[in-house]
Amino acid sequence: MAYGKQAISQADIDAVNEVLTSEFLTQGPAVPKFEAAIAHYCDVKFASAVNSATSALHLACLALDVTIGDIVWTSPNTFVASSNCALYCGADVDFVDIDEHTGNMCVEALEKKLIAAKRANTLPKVVIPVHFAGQSCDMEAIYQLSLKYHFNIIEDASHAIGAEYKGAKIGNCQFSDICIFSFHPVKIITSGEGGMAVTNQASLDHKIKLLRSHGITKESHKMSEELDGPWAYQQIDLGFNYRMTDIHAALGLRQMQEVDRFVAQRHALAQRYDSIFDCHPEITPLAQRANQYSAFHLYIVSISSLTKDKKKHLVCQLREKGVGVHVHYIPVHLQPYYQELGFKMGDFPAAEQYYQTALTLPLHPQLTHAEQDKVIAALLAQL
Ligand SMILES: *Cc1c(COP(=O)(O)O)cnc(C)c1O
Repeated sequence: MAYGKQAISQADIDAVNEVLTSEFLTQGPAVPKFEAAIAHYCDVKFASAVNSATSALHLACLALDVTIGDIVWTSPNTFVASSNCALYCGADVDFVDIDEHTGNMCVEALEKKLIAAKRANTLPKVVIPVHFAGQSCDMEAIYQLSLKYHFNIIEDASHAIGAEYKGAKIGNCQFSDICIFSFHPVKIITSGEGGMAVTNQASLDHKIKLLRSHGITKESHKMSEELDGPWAYQQIDLGFNYRMTDIHAALGLRQMQEVDRFVAQRHALAQRYDSIFDCHPEITPLAQRANQYSAFHLYIVSISSLTKDKKKHLVCQLREKGVGVHVHYIPVHLQPYYQELGFKMGDFPAAEQYYQTALTLPLHPQLTHAEQDKVIAALLAQL
């Protein structure tokens, strides 16, 4: 039993099969259909499908002109892709410590760091809040700070499609420039591999769409000279091949029909865990804030008695029993590559402290009550 996994139906298989026997395997109609479905669902103007959320993050940074000499801030409690995207652009990365109760970027820590950065003339160009485990960061507060300190915002919503903040869907970009999603199989919906960047700004959308396909345009109004003929295309920027195939898009589009059901099932299972752990004061689930509807990508508990050695023992014991517990996340700044850049233990104490006691329990739409009971019994037996 893994901590997360995809739920694939016969309808999903049929949708993929249909593409395989159609005219287009890539650059066909399924990609814009998937983009339109996401844009409609999130109530946002533009959506660009790409081959991963990592690519979406990279293109989002490039669209906001992140380059050498710039500074990008994100959370240390995330997957490495949230900060690597800035390094791809030659920018410097720094982190903002977390609220230990939610695992999200701490707004007070952000404000404190902005005040210091203003004095030192080291303000960030872009801040990337990560909606940890599927619960939104306090985006309105972060947006207010962006107006005062003049930074752009990319939401890393890899965990959070289907989530809501203050009654509106994540991805509407009310408080950000760009929001990105991941469709890796452990996430809320899947396209196999895949990602999406959404925005309300046409100029950002154009740049993302240009760069995902080599920086090549076929639209005559964007070309610099008269066309050689109807075959003409021009490379007007240095882009990549970050395109999503129609095979992936057809799966993603089909899965979008299930997103609300998947999230509701995750909620029901999370509540079931919560009701048991209510009677165990040493086990604390991640806090859920008011005005939030998490997508519950992950169900995480903090176990107060855990130390480094105890945690290793506990995870090994549970995995031996077939209970696929996991840990999210090893703080990014402690990864060897980041330590080479100068980060060290002690830099972000809340993220480090949180990491010591956090444990991710299995949660996905197909987890049965019997399997969940086995997880609970195995965990309680070890404490
Ligand atoms: C999964 C994930 C990514 C990367 O997603 P891919 O689609 O695998 O590239 C980025 N950020 C976070 C927070 C993630 O969980």
